[in-house]
Amino acid sequence: MAYLTLKDVNKIYPNGYHAVHDFNLEIEKGEFIVFVGSSGCGKSTTLRMIAGLEDISKGEFLIDGKRANEMGPRERGIAMVFQSYALYPHMSVYDNLAFGLTLQGVDEDVIDEKVRRTAAVLGLTDYLDRMPRALSGGQRQRVAVGRAIIRKVGVFLMDEPLSNLDAKQRVTMRSEITQIHRETEATTIYVTHDQTEAMTMADRIVVMRDGRIQQVGTPYELYFRPANVFVAGFIGEPPMNFVRGTVKGGCIGFGATQINLAPILEEKLGYYEGKPIVFGFRPEAIRLPEEKDAYRFRCQVELTEMLGDNTNVYISAGEDRAILKVDPHDTHEMDAALEFSVPYESVSLFDGETEQVIPTKYTK
Ligand code: ADP
Repeated sequence: MAYLTLKDVNKIYPNGYHAVHDFNLEIEKGEFIVFVGSSGCGKSTTLRMIAGLEDISKGEFLIDGKRANEMGPRERGIAMVFQSYALYPHMSVYDNLAFGLTLQGVDEDVIDEKVRRTAAVLGLTDYLDRMPRALSGGQRQRVAVGRAIIRKVGVFLMDEPLSNLDAKQRVTMRSEITQIHRETEATTIYVTHDQTEAMTMADRIVVMRDGRIQQVGTPYELYFRPANVFVAGFIGEPPMNFVRGTVKGGCIGFGATQINLAPILEEKLGYYEGKPIVFGFRPEAIRLPEEKDAYRFRCQVELTEMLGDNTNVYISAGEDRAILKVDPHDTHEMDAALEFSVPYESVSLFDGETEQVIPTKYTK
């Protein structure tokens, strides 16, 4: 049985706002789960219901198979790290780490051992006597994490814990949190709006939009097998290219190119005749035009961005636009003609009405 279970969980705030709709998820012990989505999509609300800081309006939350809806935050064995570090400013790092255990009446020797072990894991041993104001943002963050992990709780919740750090610190802390997770093996739920954090840290990602789960999967599944247009466009930078069109004679147009869907859609082609379809391909999925089992496109270069590790080429074909990721050593002149191909296996097709994925011969 799963360690944490959310069954048809809903949140309707007292003002009537329905913030979370039928949230279903099973989390195994030790998993690192990331909730990702844009601001306001219901990530924090869901996390706070798990923590016991918000009531569950409808549905059930189980810990180890036991209904936890009515349990208080303390009873749940859950620790939460918030966006703001919430350190006690008048206490040293040592006392900040020790505080929760002191309140619980834990033996001083035991506290001392735990504080020192936690500080060692987090690289804070040399800072135990410092006050929070004498620490960098990253160090304060580590103390905040330390205060949560020292309690040896079963579940660890983090709400945008890196949002106050600069870009470089975020990258460092990202790998540190992953490392801490590996060492503590605590079940973790991490909330972020940043898809890179989600992709780099998660065992499984939950993509949310408007209070609803869009897809649950490993970073690999979300990237290569997105369930719908939203997830396909949300994960990946630059985002997936989409060609939208109505199927006519088994084809949709990209500029002057006719994309014949027959080789990838096979027997489903008839059903989609006359219906809208979305043809998606990732910027880096393009190949040389000679490629076999691939679509060939002809386009014009609009703009290039050399980023060092790759170059983004913005292209157009008639009214259609796309971005291609190419080798930085390739030069592409503005307005020059360009030919490229997209292997059949790299195409994501979506129903233009429901926006849900259509399995193709190559992706099912
Ligand atoms: P996220 O964490 O994804 O940014 P939240 O869970 O904080 O989103 O919020 C989800 C939605 O619920 C937002 O539209 C927000 O305005 C709304 N909301 C949050 N708290 C309350 C509240 N106490 N009362 C009414 N609406 C709220």
